[in-house]
Amino acid sequence: MKILVLNCGSSSLKVGVFEIAEKSTEIFKATYEKFEAGCCSYKITQGAAVETGQAPLGDIGAALVALPQILDGHHVTKLDAIGHRIVHGGEKFRTTAILDESTIAAIEALTPLAPLHNPANLLAVRIAKEVWPSLSQVAVFDTSFHSTNPPRATTYAVPKAWRDAGLRRFGFHGTSHKYVAIRAAEEIGVPLRELKIVSVHLGNGASVCAVNRGESIDTSMGMTPLEGLVMGTRSGDVDPGLFGFLSRQHGLSITEVEEALYSQSGLKGLTGSSDMRDVEDRAGKGDTEAQLAIELFAYRARKYIGAYAAAMGGLDAVVFTGGIGENSPSMRRRICDGLEFMGLRLDHDRNQFVELANHAAPQIQAYGARVRVIVTETAEQLMIARETAAALAPKATVPEPIPVAVSARHVHLSRPAVEALFGPGYHLTPATPLRQPGQWAARERITLEGPKGCLERVAILGPERPRTQIEVSRTDGFALGIDAPVRDSGKLDGTPTVRLIGPVASLNTDGLIVAARHIHTNPDDARRLGLADGMLVDVHIGDEERGLVFGKTLIRVSDNALTEMHIDTDEANAADIRVSGEGSLVSDLRAVAMANRD
Ligand code: ADP
Repeated sequence: MKILVLNCGSSSLKVGVFEIAEKSTEIFKATYEKFEAGCCSYKITQGAAVETGQAPLGDIGAALVALPQILDGHHVTKLDAIGHRIVHGGEKFRTTAILDESTIAAIEALTPLAPLHNPANLLAVRIAKEVWPSLSQVAVFDTSFHSTNPPRATTYAVPKAWRDAGLRRFGFHGTSHKYVAIRAAEEIGVPLRELKIVSVHLGNGASVCAVNRGESIDTSMGMTPLEGLVMGTRSGDVDPGLFGFLSRQHGLSITEVEEALYSQSGLKGLTGSSDMRDVEDRAGKGDTEAQLAIELFAYRARKYIGAYAAAMGGLDAVVFTGGIGENSPSMRRRICDGLEFMGLRLDHDRNQFVELANHAAPQIQAYGARVRVIVTETAEQLMIARETAAALAPKATVPEPIPVAVSARHVHLSRPAVEALFGPGYHLTPATPLRQPGQWAARERITLEGPKGCLERVAILGPERPRTQIEVSRTDGFALGIDAPVRDSGKLDGTPTVRLIGPVASLNTDGLIVAARHIHTNPDDARRLGLADGMLVDVHIGDEERGLVFGKTLIRVSDNALTEMHIDTDEANAADIRVSGEGSLVSDLRAVAMANRD
């Protein structure tokens, strides 16, 4: 599929054309910027050929209108679709969206949240619709990747009326964070679902993202791209009390303060230059302002890495990207120095000489260091092209209903746990067979105890497992007073400890999780339903009145499994189904889920 990607900002237009296949390639790339006096400068790259110069194009609209001719002139023809970068998707757009009148209106309605960016992005959409009326157009949002951030990360502790009015954290750079996290996982050779990654995007705009098992769980930019790291011209984190101080003491208006925080702060506010190369040069020559700016920039980034390692309860890799992250060995070193206590140590030679051509993602940690450090060029345009292709991929046929079973809280015990709770040599008594062949509920029950309270008569499911696993709902977690993470069954490293109380003794063990919803199936059913092991699908459950679509449901294929979806009691209550029900795959979302899985 040949995809044209348009990234239209307020002062520049970036264009990419990609052939999306098993191995995707960029076949055309262009940038148009510095529009003034009826002219702009441009740079076109095609393979090894690079062409730069001035074009008689007075504004971005003119550049867009001229694009078909420019593409023709470079033998780029037969486009299949267009992908647009849209900065703000608000609460509404959690994934890509096909651009039609209603989605365009919904994006327009988000303008107050991104007054500079969304109108510029929509200008490209409108012109592209006129220029290529027959091509499908897809919106890919900077905010979507962060739609998995939990409320504790997205909520500002402010009055309810403000929150009701839409004040919350969204996060940006999502396409970049997602791409580099996927790229890092490929480089490490471990599925993204099993990694805890901090992605550090340091360009003119800069942000950090905690990517926990493939999902963004927190990111440093907030409701606007002003929060977080020190940036080229943006302040990043400041005390909001400064508004009152500057207003009362210096008579500044809200607009003046906001303008200064966006465009007169960051590196520029500290040194007069927003360009890290200048700042590094000046610091090297003894300029103390530049030295302080570099220290502050690195310190803020280091704090966020530490904070996000804490938020995820561990860290497997840090990925640097963006102009500064990719090109400044000294900044990478300043950020990483001091994090040795977390198992993060650089190899100074590898850090000094990174080679990033052809999407390389070199590892630059010291030999034996526990945490990987990876550098890679971000490829937001490529990611937009991939997601556009996925959004337009042919739809699967409508599948048959899938039985849904509701799992109440239960435990799977290991042999040592059975002996600890019930006495040496004890064997559980199978009482009720479960639907999955060979599995049963035991006659015995145990109690779970946490710092807040107990859950009594908790079911034990057999047969025994190599490792004890305790599956509760989010509500049960509150009853116990323990924050159980959402995990796939068997992925228990770093899970919290809970006390199990049996008739003979009690036992403190880790393994407390909220089980990620999943569908068990066998190879035959999987083939018929168009499913594959490891895939994430969206499933509609319940009736028209209170039914819900459950996203990111993991497919687990095993030889003898009966096809059945498992959800917990909170999920069942939310969709208003009781002990069991039926679900149906939401087929037109499946292609997107496949693309998001890598
Ligand atoms: P944007 O966010 O606009 O895409 P970039 O990702 O291109 O920005 O990053 C621009 C920043 O990268 C600038 O501060 C620039 O000085 C910095 N940069 C580029 N090359 C280097 C380098 N070799 N050393 C230090 N900083 C660099």
